[in-house]
Amino acid sequence: MKADDVKKITMVGAGDMGHGIAACFLQGGYTVVLRDIKQEFVDKGVAGIKKSFARFVEKGKMTQEAFDDALSRLIPMVDIEEAVKDSDFIVEAVPEILDLKKSVFAELDKYAPKHAILASNTSNISISDIASATNRPDKVIGYHFFNPAILMKLVEVTRGDKSSDESIQIGYDLAQKIKKVPVIVEKDSPGFIYNRVNEPTLALLSKILEEGSPAPEEFDAALKPFMPMAPFELMDYVGIDIAYHGLEYFAEVLSPDYKPSKAFEEYMTAGTLGKKTGKGFYDWSQGRPQIDTAKATKEYDLNHLVALQVNEATKLIEEGVCTDPKEIDLAMANGGGSPFGPFALAQGIGYEVLNAKLEELYDKFKLDIFKPTKTMKEGNIKV
Ligand code: NAD
Repeated sequence: MKADDVKKITMVGAGDMGHGIAACFLQGGYTVVLRDIKQEFVDKGVAGIKKSFARFVEKGKMTQEAFDDALSRLIPMVDIEEAVKDSDFIVEAVPEILDLKKSVFAELDKYAPKHAILASNTSNISISDIASATNRPDKVIGYHFFNPAILMKLVEVTRGDKSSDESIQIGYDLAQKIKKVPVIVEKDSPGFIYNRVNEPTLALLSKILEEGSPAPEEFDAALKPFMPMAPFELMDYVGIDIAYHGLEYFAEVLSPDYKPSKAFEEYMTAGTLGKKTGKGFYDWSQGRPQIDTAKATKEYDLNHLVALQVNEATKLIEEGVCTDPKEIDLAMANGGGSPFGPFALAQGIGYEVLNAKLEELYDKFKLDIFKPTKTMKEGNIKV
C-alpha cells in the first residue's frame, strides 16, 4: 500500500486531540470516521470540529462550501466494528494508559482490514509495547500530533521495533498530504524529539524553585523579550500538573535528575496549577500576567536555555533516535513557537558559549543531565 491508496481514515477517541486530528484529515479531503465509546463524546468531538471550522470561515480561511464539504465527509460512530471495517488508516487518541491502549489496539487488529495501518498519538507510551497487542506490529506506528492539532504543524512519526519501512512511509506521506510537517523518529524513545529536547529546561525551572531564587517573575523577565511566553508563564499556561507529570515520567524512564523538586511539588499539593485554576506562578484571575522586564535576573539568560536544548538534541543523535540534525531543527521549529531549531541557534551563538553555560549549570546543580555530551563538546554540527 501507498499513501495514495488511503481513502478512509478512522479516528479512535474524539477528545481534545482526536477531534483536532480528525479535523486535519477532513481538511485534507479524506472521509473520516470519528469514534468514541459514547454518543455524547462523539457529539462533543463533532461540535469541536464544527467550532474550529466555523472560526476558519469567520476569518476567511475557509469557504462555506469547503465547510459543508468537509462535514459531509465526517461519519460519527460508536460501534467499533463498523467504525474500522473498511478503513485504510486508523489513528488512536484515547487516554494515556498502557492497558487501555493495548486493549484498543487488540480490538482494532481484530476488526480493521488486514492492510490497515494502526497509528497511535501517544505522547509517551512505547510504540513497541502497543504494537505487541496486535498481530500486525509491522503496521503499527507512532503518530504524535501537537495541541491544538488543527494549528500545530509537527507530526512525529515513530518507528516501533517492528514497524515496516512501508508503514512509516505511508504515515509520513499522509501527514504531508494534509500539509503537516512530519519528522521520522527512528527509535521509540521517551518524549520522542520535541518533548525530550524541552525537558531539561523544565528540570532547570524545578531546581530554580527549589533554590528559591531568582523568583519565577525575575527569571521570566530575562527571557520575555525573546519569546511570546516566558518559561514559567508557559508552564502556568499549559498546566503545572502536566509539567510535573512529565518530569516524574522522565525521572522514571531516563534519569532520576528529572525528579520534581519539593518546591515544585508544593504547587501540586496546593492545587495552584496555573491558568486553569486562576493561580500558579502568576495570578491569572485578571487575564494574562504582565511581566515587568525591569525585574530581570542577571543570573540566567537565553543562552542557558538554548544550551540545554542543543545538548539534549545531541543526545538524540548519539542515541540514534534521530540522526539528522536538520530533522531535529525542523521538529523543534514546528512543534512550538520558535522560528529556529536548536542546531541553527547553536551555529549562530557558538558551541563554546553554550558549553560554558552548561558547565555553569552543572556546577550549580550537579545534575548529570546538564553535562555537555561528547558531540556538544566537539561542537561541529552544521545545519
Ligand atoms: P482526552 O481525554 O481529551 O480524550 C480521550 C478520548 O478517548 C475521550 O473522549 C474518551 O471518551 C475516549 N476513549 C476512551 N476509551 C476509548 C475507546 N476504547 N475507544 C474510543 N475512544 C475512547 O485526551 P487527549 O488529550 O485527546 O489525549 C489523547 C491521547 O493523545 C493521549 O495518548 C495523550 O497522551 C495524547 N496527546 C495529548 C496531547 C494534549 O496536549 N492533550 C498532545 C499530544 C498527544
